[in-house]
Amino acid sequence: MEKLKRFTAKDAEETYLVPHWAAGFFRVGEDGELEVTPEGPEGPSASLFEIVQDLRDEGRPLPVMLRFPQILQARLVALNEAFRRAIKKYHYQSEYRGLYPVKVNQRRMVVETLAKAGKPYAYGLEAGSKAELALILAQDLHKEALIACNGFKDDDFIRLALMGKKLGKNVVITLEKFAELERVIRIAQELSVEPQIGIRYKLKTRGTGQWEESGGESAKFGFTTPEIIRAVDILAEAGMLGTIAMLHSHIGSQVTDIRRIKQAVREIAQTYVQLRKLGAPVRYLNLGGGLAVDYDGSKTAFYASANYSLEEYAEDLVYVSKEVCDGHGEPHPILVTESGRAVTAYHSVLVLEVIDTIRPPGEEKIEQPRDTHPVVKDMFDLARGISAKNYREVYHDAFANKDTILNLYDLGLISLRDRATAEALFYQIARKTLRFALEFDYPADELEDLQKMLADKLVCNFSLFQ
Ligand SMILES: *Cc1c(COP(=O)(O)O)cnc(C)c1O
Repeated sequence: MEKLKRFTAKDAEETYLVPHWAAGFFRVGEDGELEVTPEGPEGPSASLFEIVQDLRDEGRPLPVMLRFPQILQARLVALNEAFRRAIKKYHYQSEYRGLYPVKVNQRRMVVETLAKAGKPYAYGLEAGSKAELALILAQDLHKEALIACNGFKDDDFIRLALMGKKLGKNVVITLEKFAELERVIRIAQELSVEPQIGIRYKLKTRGTGQWEESGGESAKFGFTTPEIIRAVDILAEAGMLGTIAMLHSHIGSQVTDIRRIKQAVREIAQTYVQLRKLGAPVRYLNLGGGLAVDYDGSKTAFYASANYSLEEYAEDLVYVSKEVCDGHGEPHPILVTESGRAVTAYHSVLVLEVIDTIRPPGEEKIEQPRDTHPVVKDMFDLARGISAKNYREVYHDAFANKDTILNLYDLGLISLRDRATAEALFYQIARKTLRFALEFDYPADELEDLQKMLADKLVCNFSLFQ
């Protein structure tokens, strides 16, 4: 309990690594409460606890999802400004035109906030289905903002995309599979609309982490190099080579290692150059998603982190594209990315109620029975004799005893009651060890094991699938 009293707001920030993952949108306030600063650390702040209290007073049950549109806007600005700076730094002779992939979060508030905040940047939207495209066509975007159509495309989806183009919107139909090519040519001719075609290229570079299957040669989507050549030939034959406007690739989501990203950019930029040499007037180089969020704040290539910053990502994309194009005397393409999670991840907070706490045993008083197994008796002696001087040895002995007791139990040589007593004693010794260890020097790894073993488990009632 004494330890608890000394736990300060600063300790809370360090324990939960708040400054490392919060990207300036959250902090621990002086009174120890988690605060949100939706416009960044300099802007106004509010206590999440107070927000939740107010909601409860209004009779809203938990769990509740809090959303901060200002954070969406701030992330969108940060992304676009990072590319602006990188373009200036490397004298890149073109621009950046970001896209928000609607599948990442289709909520009206999210899509409308991003459409509005993105207008000064000609920021566009990406549809993965016909329904998403219908939603996007209703948004008030900058005239030059891209509207990209990915995903499986039936005739209706293609028709809707071509209607959007006819209405003067900057719609690109990204071909994901070779079979879509014939369909797009046929419907474009039927409607007499000149399409803008994008080709999704199947990267040989894979991402890292959970979504690594989205990239690489076994990926579901994308054209292989022979398919690209065939598509170019077919379009040339139809007098439509001029409709190839975009080269697209998607390495997978949450790519934690910047080296994979650089590798992918090099590969796709080379393909852009090669397509131009074949006479296709590609203007947009679309690197898809993958920009990772450092959820755990460790700045590593661990799956919940990222070993790079937004700055570094933008600079690498700009620099590598420029280098490849300059090497072949091709013009710098308009750079496109479809960052989803990097734009949305920070804006929502799920608040849950803790409905129960599971505490490890060892806090209760344990009476020594008159007649008990010698190993259990030894545990009692250890528990009684532990001190600041001997606690490490005592803990190691207790650990060994616990193993012995489990083995004896398997052999039927010890009763359930004796085993239970011994386990409770083990936890009691572990608790005392932790108390001493926190006060005196103790090997960090063992300390961490102890803290994990003795941590309370909090039970919450919620579903991640909602
Ligand atoms: C899901 C997806 C994205 C978004 O990926 P993030 O890693 O969230 O940025 C972008 N492009 C395509 C084609 C996708 O399927």
